[in-house]
Amino acid sequence: MPSLPFLIDLSPNKPTTRDIADTVKAGGTRALTTAQERADAARYQEVTCRSALNRVEGMPFHWTLNPYRGCTHGCHYCFARRYHVQFEMNVDDEFASVILVKHNIVAVLRRELDRTSWQRELVALGTATDPYQPIEGHYKLTRGCLERLVEGRTPVGLVTKGPMVVRDQDVLVELSRAAGCTVHMSVPTTDEDAWRILEPGTAPPLQRLRAVRQLVDAGINAGVLMAPIVPGFSSSRSKLERTVKAIADHGARFVGCNVMYLQEGTRTHFMKFVSQEFPSMLPRYERLYARKYPPAEYRKQVQGMVKALQGRYGISRESAGKTLSSDQPVESAAEAFEQAAFAW
Ligand code: SF4
Repeated sequence: MPSLPFLIDLSPNKPTTRDIADTVKAGGTRALTTAQERADAARYQEVTCRSALNRVEGMPFHWTLNPYRGCTHGCHYCFARRYHVQFEMNVDDEFASVILVKHNIVAVLRRELDRTSWQRELVALGTATDPYQPIEGHYKLTRGCLERLVEGRTPVGLVTKGPMVVRDQDVLVELSRAAGCTVHMSVPTTDEDAWRILEPGTAPPLQRLRAVRQLVDAGINAGVLMAPIVPGFSSSRSKLERTVKAIADHGARFVGCNVMYLQEGTRTHFMKFVSQEFPSMLPRYERLYARKYPPAEYRKQVQGMVKALQGRYGISRESAGKTLSSDQPVESAAEAFEQAAFAW
């Protein structure tokens, strides 16, 4: 490989995210010479963060926390894909194969929580990428952050598709007692075909539901977000019913749903994916997603079906925990978590 003398030196100190953006802009992701390739074929670049907690506006929570950037779960509909472009990386392969790791986030978080000005407001964890993607087994940054949040008596709302969350059951129980904690497990559908197609790097849906059961049995306020429901893949009444029933059967405390929306970046990736893998579906998607959201009537129809099923299977639409405002339906939680993705 030719040398790239114009690139910044990434060692021995870890680069900041700005350094990474500059480096990738100058030489592409191949210029990330300190990124480690691991057995999953993804490359992991450690970065130094200056802040751990990010302030967000217009959400039911004001603070977000994300130890990783990029996600090897690689869901094709992922709203966070578009934010990879901020780092000069593409929204397709690089979103799922070049992961930034905030190696110092636990120490930074401790400092922030120790400030006398910290009001112990709710922190939303996992709004930009999954805090329990496989690399967490190695770095344990999410666990470290949770431990600091227990010490800082700070309530947490957490969203994940990773059954690895049960590893931290002990900390989540402590946090529930100390400040409040709600786990939102994302299970858009239990349909195995849709899962394999849309969420290639994730654990099977039933494994995620078993994790919910384990957390609930431990006394943690844990429920499910069917988010997003993807038209044509997981939106039929029979698939919705099987999913809601399975969620209820696994003892989830609540369930919410949200129909897929496509913002630029994510939209480009998703349409490319459909045109390559399911070309006959493309015209329908182009009609349904002429705008960011599918038509309101369609969304209402899907949400109405889920609401009726929630009633039939006796599962709450509202999270009882101190996660969002207490009277907020879980649909709002699903959307809020997604919309907060820009803040990491
Ligand atoms: S698990 Fe979440 S963050 Fe990761 S790719 Fe899927 S939707 Fe995106």
